[in-house]
Amino acid sequence: MPRTGIDTIVVGAGAAGLAAARALSDAGRRVEVLEARPRIGGRILTVHDPEWPLPIELGPEFLHGEAKATRDVARAAGLAVVELPDEHVWAEGGRLRPMGEVWMRFARLMERIPSKGPDISFDRFLARRRVPAPTREMACLFVEGYFAAHPDRVSAQSVASSRGEDDEAQRQYRLADGYFRIVEWLRAGLSPERCRVRLGAVVESVAWRRGQVEASYRSAAGTQTRLVRARTAVVTLPLGVLKAAPAEPGGVRFEPVPAVLRAAVEKLEVSHACKLALRFREAFWEEPGFFRRRVAPALGEPNRIDFLHDRKGDFPTWWTANPWRVPILTAWAGGPHADALSELGEAGLVDRALASLARALGLARSRLEDLLESWRAHDWRRDPCSRGAYSYVGVGGLPAQRALGRPCEGTLFFAGEATEPDEMGTVSGAIASGQRAARQILSWADRAHAGRLAPPRAVRADVPSPRGDRPGARRPPARRLRAPAPEPRARGPAPERRPGLPGLLLRRGHRGGAGAGGGPLPELRRAGRSYG
Ligand SMILES: Cc1cc2nc3c(=O)[nH]c(=O)nc-3n(C[C@H](O)[C@H](O)[C@H](O)COP(=O)(O)OP(=O)(O)OC[C@H]3O[C@@H](n4cnc5c(N)ncnc54)[C@H](O)[C@@H]3O)c2cc1C
Repeated sequence: MPRTGIDTIVVGAGAAGLAAARALSDAGRRVEVLEARPRIGGRILTVHDPEWPLPIELGPEFLHGEAKATRDVARAAGLAVVELPDEHVWAEGGRLRPMGEVWMRFARLMERIPSKGPDISFDRFLARRRVPAPTREMACLFVEGYFAAHPDRVSAQSVASSRGEDDEAQRQYRLADGYFRIVEWLRAGLSPERCRVRLGAVVESVAWRRGQVEASYRSAAGTQTRLVRARTAVVTLPLGVLKAAPAEPGGVRFEPVPAVLRAAVEKLEVSHACKLALRFREAFWEEPGFFRRRVAPALGEPNRIDFLHDRKGDFPTWWTANPWRVPILTAWAGGPHADALSELGEAGLVDRALASLARALGLARSRLEDLLESWRAHDWRRDPCSRGAYSYVGVGGLPAQRALGRPCEGTLFFAGEATEPDEMGTVSGAIASGQRAARQILSWADRAHAGRLAPPRAVRADVPSPRGDRPGARRPPARRLRAPAPEPRARGPAPERRPGLPGLLLRRGHRGGAGAGGGPLPELRRAGRSYG
């Protein structure tokens, strides 16, 4: 028997799902949130390890520009937001130089992308404009880092539309207490009488017709399938999950497949990113003379590294935890660079990262191995609950993205970072999308009460997905890089101890991919999936 008496089912307890649930709960609605993982937060994954001086952000770390929706929550929750110092440095075989001029060239290039007319890939745009090789290389690094995108797939118009208009858009911030506090606050405000968050509930299908949705889910701890029924549903599944066929790990069946979903699945792309946090015994980059030995005097001396860019490295982008002076460096690779690293386990990643860093800074690798104490990463690509890092717009995909945010028959509402044109791929976009979906539901209900809607009718027949079955289907380079800060130990996912990592361990095959937030559950491990 399906459970009833619920106004809205929310699929997913990430930022978007919890924001939607919170807004609906505040408006007096009865809400059931179904979340596959044994934790809330989705791609927000703040890990607390007593051996690290700061919480480790394995997912999002930065607020890019205004990030209004995140800031509003931070303000309401009384969370401190700190601005990042923003010294970007190019590394070239052990030499460093400031990046100021590079930014200017990139900004000018963006202005040349036509916002109207047929869309083309960013790669084609560069080829047509005969952009000089160094600028082209830098622009590709930006798109691969910031959007974690493939330059030959990403829509040039979407890249142009993401450029900020003012100084604020260029600034970046961190939450001093870690990103997890944001979702924690959203959840804490749900009415206990009206709203329930069911963890470990793996949704397998969403069947719907106007005015009714039935979600079937399997408990992550068992094989029994349960049904829950409501008038409306907010679906916040990541794009990677929406693109998966139902038989694939993480895939969800829609009956019928909404046309907007089919278009989105075709035109939006899932980005892949590889993020690795490394903890050293000391912050060697702060040693006196470190810069003097590496910077040509005529170029002006950066005296600090906030972000380091190395176009030849396996990890083209690095950042420190500044303004906190702690011995942590984060390595980032997006798009094709992330693809190239995708088959390596964690030990392989660490190995490549050290080689990359040693070359970029002109340091002996053995010294880095000696200084390295520990590392953390999460494999978002193989995680069945995300199947990728975040999304970007493929060529000609802007209309499909806008359409995905529109209600389907006043019954099914898609939310999540992929549905938010202005802030795609960000936490702020995810929160805004959940709030938007809640507003849509409430205004739809108001109109229904006022008798201004057509009576219920059957939903248009199923639309086959591009693959013949059901659809089951941020970003850093440069400025939009995505790290940590202290948080009470009791909060967020439980700490997972990682062995201190002496260089030798690197060559001994380290357990890959686990990240944090609860290990795989036994029955899912059997099925080749892990919901962590
Ligand atoms: C490595 C990395 C770095 C990033 N850096 C930044 C950054 O610096 N700044 C920034 O703003 N953004 C960043 N992002 C992007 C940001 O994390 C996302 O945009 C945002 O968290 C997405 O929230 P969401 O609610 O849309 O999706 P999610 O957080 O993915 O929520 C979807 C939920 O659905 C659940 N789910 C999946 N399948 C099922 C199922 N079958 N049944 C039930 N539940 C299911 C998932 O477990 C998840 O909890 C980064 C992302 C990654 C991966």
